[in-house]
Amino acid sequence: MHKNLRVVPRFVYGRGSFSQLDEILSGQRTESGSFFVYLVDDVHEHRPLAGRLPLHAGDLLIWVNVDHEPKTVYVDELTERIRQYSNRQPDGIIGLGGGSTLDLTKAVAVLLTNPGSAADYQGWDLVKYPAVYKAGIPTLSGTGAEVSRTTVLTGPTRKLGINSDFTPFDQIVLDPDLLDGVSDEQRFFTAMDCYIHGAESINGTFINEFAQAYAEKSMDLCRTVFLGEIDRDLADEKLMVASYFGGLSIGYSQVGVCHALSYGLSFLLGTHHGVGNCVVFDQLGEFYPKEVDEFRRMMEANRIELPRGLCRDLSDTDFDTMIDVALSLAPLWENALGPDWKSIMTRERAAALYRRM
Ligand code: NAD
Ligand code: ZN
Repeated sequence: MHKNLRVVPRFVYGRGSFSQLDEILSGQRTESGSFFVYLVDDVHEHRPLAGRLPLHAGDLLIWVNVDHEPKTVYVDELTERIRQYSNRQPDGIIGLGGGSTLDLTKAVAVLLTNPGSAADYQGWDLVKYPAVYKAGIPTLSGTGAEVSRTTVLTGPTRKLGINSDFTPFDQIVLDPDLLDGVSDEQRFFTAMDCYIHGAESINGTFINEFAQAYAEKSMDLCRTVFLGEIDRDLADEKLMVASYFGGLSIGYSQVGVCHALSYGLSFLLGTHHGVGNCVVFDQLGEFYPKEVDEFRRMMEANRIELPRGLCRDLSDTDFDTMIDVALSLAPLWENALGPDWKSIMTRERAAALYRRM
């Protein structure tokens, strides 16, 4: 059975395109008394972007904090706040920020029209009703969250996305101007998430011409940015496209060993996705030799240091927790290692990899 992939139906790309947002949203505004909700990464609270939001009377602006990557309880809290604000549904919800804020936005849009807690929908195709209209505007590039059909959340027992046809945005605005102000280190780690999406897609058993074409171009753009000699503005324009292409590639294939192990690490230690992936990928030469070698060259060329010894003081129970989370992600392992993955990635092998991180 071939996947019938739901993607984002509308996007705008280009420097300055953010200024079109008001016009884009005007078509979505219904009668008087209706409103939009803005979920904006609080890093922008005292930055120029704060003054450029096209807020209308009645719109609700919520600054979201992503010091910790999204949790299901935070999604529930934000949903409740919007319900308290008005007893009618918003005309739409707009997210501005990195992957964490985009994922929060998608999740809240789903929860506004579906009963219960975000934790009830962690998994595949569990969402019953269409979400409210949602638009995503990345201010950090790499995760592909702007285009994916998932929203990655840490819940009470697992780190797993709300994967559904109701999850993708209805509209995205890709304006490279908005990447201004990201630190070099954060920019690198999030961009490497994108590079790793490509590496895991291309080397997986689910690979096909469609996913391969997007992965190749996406990795090529990352390579040009981090191994080439180009200025920052042009580099940001490329990263924004790379992120989108990487997201489309895994959308039609799957991620692999790095993401599975990285989910375990971040579930236990709260390690952020970009940096966690880099820590894991650095140890995966036996699975992705060519790409790990190139990744190390990109790190060196950009003078990036990885945190070391993350698992040094962990107990046996901690190792068990990480391994349980990682090995529960069957589709990732099946993509990476084929149908016999359980005999290849044993608990002992996973533990040995974690011990090196
Ligand atoms: P992030 O959204 O967690 O942000 C990282 C840091 O960068 C934060 O401190 C944030 O405030 C800051 N930041 C964002 N934009 C900035 C700007 N313009 N200037 C200065 N600082 C800025 O980081 P991320 O790497 O984009 O996202 C990671 C999250 O994305 C994780 O939760 C991960 O699980 C998720 N993810 C989702 C998907 C998906 O398909 N849904 C795919 C991969 C990762
Ligand atoms: Zn990722």
